[in-house]
Amino acid sequence: MNRQDKYLLGLDIGGSSIKFGYGCCPKSLQYFGKVELQHKSLSYMQQACSQILSIVDSQVGLSAIRAIGIGTCGTIDSRSGLIVGVNPNLKFWVNLPPSAILPPGLKLPVAWDNDANLMCLAEATLSCPQGKVLGITVGSGIGCGYVQGGEVYHGAHGYAMELGHVTAVYQGLPCNCGRRGCVEAYASLEGIKRRMVRELGLEENLDLASMLRHRHSDPRLERLIREGEEHLSLGVANLIVTLDPNLVVFGGGLMDAGLYAIADLRRRIRELLPELNSAQVKVEQAKEGNKAGVLGAMILAGQMIKTESE
Ligand SMILES: [Zn+2]
Repeated sequence: MNRQDKYLLGLDIGGSSIKFGYGCCPKSLQYFGKVELQHKSLSYMQQACSQILSIVDSQVGLSAIRAIGIGTCGTIDSRSGLIVGVNPNLKFWVNLPPSAILPPGLKLPVAWDNDANLMCLAEATLSCPQGKVLGITVGSGIGCGYVQGGEVYHGAHGYAMELGHVTAVYQGLPCNCGRRGCVEAYASLEGIKRRMVRELGLEENLDLASMLRHRHSDPRLERLIREGEEHLSLGVANLIVTLDPNLVVFGGGLMDAGLYAIADLRRRIRELLPELNSAQVKVEQAKEGNKAGVLGAMILAGQMIKTESE
């Protein structure tokens, strides 16, 4: 096989599953799939990864893979390459490099980054390649990334763009990170659920579909969700004033499920922006849906081998 024909493999590690896909380039994703994590532990993640590699091997042969990109929840220290801080959705998944899920003997170049950074990289590369793009993922937590000139912005240590842990309310509600009043404590699924239980006395194990149905008959729940939307919009508007992006994209499972409508977020954000910013910035729903993390991981893998060959 010609070297140029070889595939890039993207893995997207989430709290409950690992999504994966491969293709020659992100515009030609040849296969996309998902393996559920039976339990939240490193050994189960490694097993899921072995299962993924077997699937790829049976389809195209592992020798056809040129490089692997991994996206993961959690903050990654850019100096050590390790996941650091608190990782509330996968608590054991810290002080390790994301490549720890791969079998030790696998001799392939591997690159990794935070999942929201990679979602933003995919949306920027495929929709606005020359632009400055802010990407927000709405799910169990709130993720955020910023891409300019096709490169993810990491800050000095890899800790940049943590919109979920920007303070929305001084000494407000407790957040999973151990601090108080973060955007995530109000706008994420976990945050809204916690408020639902503590403030409204609703049951803890209400699933997302039931919660979304219940909001229409319970104005108190609708109010909590609208407050989440307000805090998220305010955080994003402040980032727009700070960064002056061309495009803001909202993705993640809860956007797909309809927790927040893109038209409502766009209207609120525009209300909060100075006219100059409001006239220029586009606010859109992410186009690549649940594949964005995998596509971003493939793009990152492609960037790494391009840099290595230069
Ligand atoms: Zn926090």
